[in-house]
Amino acid sequence: MAKRDYYEVLGVERTADAEEIKKAYRKLAVKYHPDKNPGDHAAEEKFKELGEAYEALSDPQKRAAYDQYGHAAFDARQRASRGGGGGFHDPFDIFREVFGGGGGGSIFESFFGGGERSGPQRGDDLRYDLEITFEEAAMGCEKEISLSKLDPCEVCEGSGAERGSAVKTCATCGGRGQVMMSRGIFSIAQTCPHCKGQGRVLEKPCRSCHGEGRKERASKIKLKIPPGVDAGNRLRSGGNGEAGFRGGPPGDLYVILHVAQHEIFQRDGDDLHCEVPISFIQAALGAEIEVPTLEGKAAIKIPAGTQSGAVFRVKGKGVKNLQGYGHGDLHARIQVEVPTRLSHEQKAKLQEFAALCDGKEAPLAQSFFEKAKKFFK
Ligand SMILES: [Zn+2]
Ligand SMILES: [Zn+2]
Repeated sequence: MAKRDYYEVLGVERTADAEEIKKAYRKLAVKYHPDKNPGDHAAEEKFKELGEAYEALSDPQKRAAYDQYGHAAFDARQRASRGGGGGFHDPFDIFREVFGGGGGGSIFESFFGGGERSGPQRGDDLRYDLEITFEEAAMGCEKEISLSKLDPCEVCEGSGAERGSAVKTCATCGGRGQVMMSRGIFSIAQTCPHCKGQGRVLEKPCRSCHGEGRKERASKIKLKIPPGVDAGNRLRSGGNGEAGFRGGPPGDLYVILHVAQHEIFQRDGDDLHCEVPISFIQAALGAEIEVPTLEGKAAIKIPAGTQSGAVFRVKGKGVKNLQGYGHGDLHARIQVEVPTRLSHEQKAKLQEFAALCDGKEAPLAQSFFEKAKKFFK
């Protein structure tokens, strides 16, 4: 299941300050502390989750990374600290599969590939929070989003050079973007101060973008959301981040999904749950009823004598699995509805019915009160 949002775990707003975060953590940590909940596995999990969320949000640097990249910020860190290097893959990095890659660079590189840069600089990654409906998440959808971002300058086509002017190799560093500085007996490579690591200098910077090769512009981006996504999933749209500096490769766009609640269904992974009220007569006599599914209706047979709380599974009527492993199931939980307004005639009939039962209409209740008798003394 998707990892919960750290702010949600702590129950604070995204704008909460350090003091509010600390307070929220303390309060919840006391509540879920293992000493206070011995043997309670759920509390233990909550306590661990809390610790993780607090560790991330109490450190300004980690919090900034989390705000920008979500949980992926730490997946990458973990790999880096293990010396894994490269090959960063996030199970929720769905766009890689959906869009067949593109865009190159991963979060991993943008996080840790810092250091001395030479040549064209990659554009920044962007984050976009997208709200979709329950059905859209379950069935997949196409969305067009609008955002303002740096795109390649149309005038100079991203080069940063005024039309007709030359782009020359930097004479200071010979195009390498780095220069060697002597420090006593050592030589240290440093970013070339003249071309700022680009290796090239503009004879005349483009007037439209001031030599940046990119300009802020309103963009519309089409997204294909695959069926089976869930709240908190992060989709990568390769190459749809900000344009690189002077023709450098673009960053990626990360779309964080927020899913609205459904009136009828609750979701648990690929499974759907819903409450289905039936009349006490249907429960007693048995019936064939219709339950809603995401794609219309399904019929289920309720056997005679069905109790409230009984769950009937409709196989394959859940949500399509994101990784392509079939569909989840729909679990219909029966709620027996007892009539609240009875006419005189209806009451009389029920009393007649009770008389026919000779006090044996509720065997469970009967045996319960038998057992309970000894407590009444
Ligand atoms: Zn330009
Ligand atoms: Zn240079």
